[in-house]
Amino acid sequence: MSPLIDIRNVSKTYATGSFTVRALREVSISVEPGEFVALVGPSGSGKSTLLHIMGFLDRPDSGEYYFAGHPTASLGEGRLAAIRSRMVGFIFQSFHLLKRTTAKDNVLLPMVYTGLGADDRKALDCLSLVGLADRVKHRSNELSGGQCQRVAIARSLVNDPLVVMADEPTGNLDAASRHEVMRAIKSLNERGLTVVIVTHDDEVAAMTNRVVRMKDGEIVSDETVRPPAAAEPAAAPLPPARLGFSPSEFAEQLKVAFKAIWSHKTRSALTVLGIFIGVGAIISLMTISEGFMTSLLSGASEDDAKKVWVTPRWEPGKPRRRFTMGEVEALRAKVPLAENVQPMLHRDLQITAGDRRVDSTINTHEGFELEDQVPPGGYFQNRRVAGRFFTPAENLSRARVAVINHALAKKLFDTTDAVNREMKIKGLSFAVVGVTEDHKAEQMFGGQPTAYIPLNTAAKRVFGETRLNYIEVTAPSPADTKEARRQVIEVLREERNLREDAEEDFEVRTFEAQIEMFKNTMGKISLVVYGIAGISLLVGGIGIMNIMLVSVTERTREIGLRKALGARNSDILSQFLIEAVVLCVLGGVLGVGLGYALAWAAYFFTKVQPALGAGTISFAFGFSTLIGVGFGFWPAMRAAMLDPIEALRYE
Ligand code: ADP
Repeated sequence: MSPLIDIRNVSKTYATGSFTVRALREVSISVEPGEFVALVGPSGSGKSTLLHIMGFLDRPDSGEYYFAGHPTASLGEGRLAAIRSRMVGFIFQSFHLLKRTTAKDNVLLPMVYTGLGADDRKALDCLSLVGLADRVKHRSNELSGGQCQRVAIARSLVNDPLVVMADEPTGNLDAASRHEVMRAIKSLNERGLTVVIVTHDDEVAAMTNRVVRMKDGEIVSDETVRPPAAAEPAAAPLPPARLGFSPSEFAEQLKVAFKAIWSHKTRSALTVLGIFIGVGAIISLMTISEGFMTSLLSGASEDDAKKVWVTPRWEPGKPRRRFTMGEVEALRAKVPLAENVQPMLHRDLQITAGDRRVDSTINTHEGFELEDQVPPGGYFQNRRVAGRFFTPAENLSRARVAVINHALAKKLFDTTDAVNREMKIKGLSFAVVGVTEDHKAEQMFGGQPTAYIPLNTAAKRVFGETRLNYIEVTAPSPADTKEARRQVIEVLREERNLREDAEEDFEVRTFEAQIEMFKNTMGKISLVVYGIAGISLLVGGIGIMNIMLVSVTERTREIGLRKALGARNSDILSQFLIEAVVLCVLGGVLGVGLGYALAWAAYFFTKVQPALGAGTISFAFGFSTLIGVGFGFWPAMRAAMLDPIEALRYE
């Protein structure tokens, strides 16, 4: 039968700065199942180093170690973690319980890293075994030192180890607690469990079966005082490295992450500020522009979709070439798909009434007969007119009549009830024959004061200018606009005698093209906002990285403990990554809220209902997760690569 622990000629040297310490010099020792071994000796003699090597927390520089009959020198990190998890139980001088955590949860902790799920019954059994059945729900800060150490003993037992290793388990305890803890450990040994204990307390050593004395890294004496307890032979196979993550581990990691965040509320809140603002900016822009698109498409009437707009092309350094009534007539005569050709002439001028002066837009129209108070076509976008519209006859006779909108009426006359009032444009008096609602699109920014007057009156009597700003052509159906556009271009090129290779000095746009243009503009604005949001997210990400580094430093001992209890590097890595991601996603969720709230605040100016789509939300989640992983990776990696012993000793 092979011994449980068989260490042959093991050496360990520590190099600190300029000098080296030979902590172990060619040490050989074997421990049989059921033994209760005390490692004693003066401070610095190598006891802890030997124990850590026995417990797979540290590796020797040279020599061999057989555990339960198997060589261990070539085992990888994952295998060693699995052995620590399933075969070795640790008890430390300073207990290393998780803070503000119940006795039961502390005992459950090693089960997280077996991948087999937590077993409450088992944890309770172990607590009963050390006499703490009535302290299950107590938190670590509500227990005495002796009770804490007994919780730690229960924790070391919960995965049925082959051996328990205790490093000065009574070093921090008073006499009564020392007795209580040693009794618990001794009774474990009496049940057949192998125990190795480091101590410099003779009383403690006297309770064991075998005392191994060390000095300057060597074993100087080895006495068996009592025969070992009866035990099962140590022929167990070594457990394989655990692969992947169990759901219970993921749940534990989430719980730990939330606990860590919750216990530093202010710090966490400040940390997620950057993510919050960045995501908020992106979401508000996305919801507003999505809302714009929706309202543009739903608000657009069939009439809009049927229209083709003809405008002068703008070229730097050249005056715009505007349109003539002759060209309008040509379009009317020669474009078969032009159901209606509307010349558009407008100016910004001051309109006066009494001592009121209002800067207004003056639009023109050739007039129409109005039967049901709602002007036909999209010209007024179905805005009702109180009074009447001017007629084609009034246009021909250059009558001084006007239709004004609510905004202008209120500014000139303090009322929208302004039919039959008088006003002046450039000193010419006009009769108000109709009052119309403000343009829907203008209602966003408060109506722009606008007057509509007959085209001929404007051209010949007011503006002294017959050149048109643009021409609006209506095709029979939206599907015809493409062809109508082609015909308009052909006719205008001909009218303007453009040579075949000459570029047009005008532009013809369909509604579809308008939408494209809107998308384009929106894209440019988005770029700026995304840039700002990007900077905010970068700063936020760096904040996350910073706080995660702080968190890793603060929890160094906890990381050491988790590794001693069987956590793999990847378990520690994922735990801190999850914490970073949870922080970022919290920021992201709040950011979505902020963005949506901002979009609704903007609603009061734009009158466009923000649209929060599933795409936007998943984008925010995906994005904040990415930031969490991206910026949390380095701190998490630092945590994962910590040496368990150094981490446990960290002050
Ligand atoms: P003991 O447990 O008997 O007090 P240790 O095994 O802790 O002794 O230490 C043995 C020697 O190795 C001591 O001289 C100690 O200073 C040194 N030592 C232990 N760990 C380290 C380390 N991480 N770095 C440098 N020296 C160390």
